[in-house]
Amino acid sequence: MFRKSSLSCRFLLALISLAIALPAAFAQSATPAPTVYIKAGHLFDATSDRLRDNMVLVVEGERIAKVAPAAQIAIPAGAEVVDLSQAWVLPGLIDCHTHLEGRADKYDPINEVKFTPFQGGFNGVVNAAKTLQAGFTSVRDVGSQPFFAVDLRRAIDEGFIPGPRVVASGPPISITGGHGDMNGFAPGVENMMYPAERDFSLADGPEAVRHQVREQIKYGVDVIKLHATGGVLSQGDKPGAEQLTYEEMKMAVDEAHRTGRKVAAHAHGTQGIKDAVRAGVDSIEHGSLIDQEGIDLMKAHGTYLDADIYNDDYILGKAVEFGLPKEMVDKEKTVGRLQRENFAKAVAAGVKIAFGTDAGVYPHGDNAKQFHYMVKFGMTPAGAIRAATSSAADLIDRAGDVGTLEAGKYADLVAVTANPLDHVEVLEHVAFVMKGGKVYKDETGAAKAAK
Ligand SMILES: [Zn+2]
Repeated sequence: MFRKSSLSCRFLLALISLAIALPAAFAQSATPAPTVYIKAGHLFDATSDRLRDNMVLVVEGERIAKVAPAAQIAIPAGAEVVDLSQAWVLPGLIDCHTHLEGRADKYDPINEVKFTPFQGGFNGVVNAAKTLQAGFTSVRDVGSQPFFAVDLRRAIDEGFIPGPRVVASGPPISITGGHGDMNGFAPGVENMMYPAERDFSLADGPEAVRHQVREQIKYGVDVIKLHATGGVLSQGDKPGAEQLTYEEMKMAVDEAHRTGRKVAAHAHGTQGIKDAVRAGVDSIEHGSLIDQEGIDLMKAHGTYLDADIYNDDYILGKAVEFGLPKEMVDKEKTVGRLQRENFAKAVAAGVKIAFGTDAGVYPHGDNAKQFHYMVKFGMTPAGAIRAATSSAADLIDRAGDVGTLEAGKYADLVAVTANPLDHVEVLEHVAFVMKGGKVYKDETGAAKAAK
């Protein structure tokens, strides 16, 4: 109808934009953004590796207006104060590798043909809330059914359900028979809500990859996820084997970057990592079997390593009970050990590190358990925290909004009751969570005490 009558179409559009613009304008004039003063006893703002004592953050509405020493800020009588003067305050944490649709107690591949997409939706509501309560105020979701993560991002941004800010991918783009395909079932078995040629996932050849990238962008993804190599939690493929070719990945990167989207490449295998980096991807996910040449290439290209070095313990401890086939357990045992050793080599070499955990493989909300391993395998506590704040924000392309506590950024912050630079594990129990100036968790009594 819109295409036939451009005049009435334009008129209608004008009416619609008026209807959208008016209530927003009225709302702004009726309620000026409230000002909140946050007293931070110890502040790690993630712009450096150091703590600063006795600071105040002035929050106006959703964003930080000012950060300064307490002595320089006069808090007006009767102003709203959040007293975290006994706590350590940090930026809201960011996990660059999550699957909010996933449940870590449902490993049996038969579930892929038993669950409808609605099950994923229910999971997402619960998992998003748990993630936020754990202090993760932003996540990148790197793989779900089409287009779960886009819908979740919208529902959270509208304030309809609580959750972290979501940078959404579509389903990972994979070769036929690859890590993203459903292998080991009879032909004709489908798990998607679309026919195979429309599932937005499988692609063979550069032109097919180009089409899938464009389709995903059409439906609102923020980032493109590729399967460069085989995987651990899949049947019939080898983690070390290259899957998408260099030419296919180069096509995906060119298409994505042209529209301002970044590309994350799942890559365990040595050659697949190198070809993904040469093709220009922005992050290597997992990176398990990387060698020295791969490390040198990542440094030269400025590619982030986003290695999930905690979940190995969970998978080997619990997954069999929850239906993980023996083939996947065996792969995990080999790949998980090498991944940690190679992570330490990459850290020592100075590769850029972002915090990503593969949440959904283990229970959502336990994301911060990975900090312990990042320090154990070579990072300083401050470095590990910056991987989950300022560096993560850079990787997910949100550095203008989140990742540090500075004027202009969203008031996304967490507080803990001990020094995380002494014991990074304290981040497993955040006591206070604020996102966009709104308090979502307060075990300190700081926000209540102020009222
Ligand atoms: Zn993953």
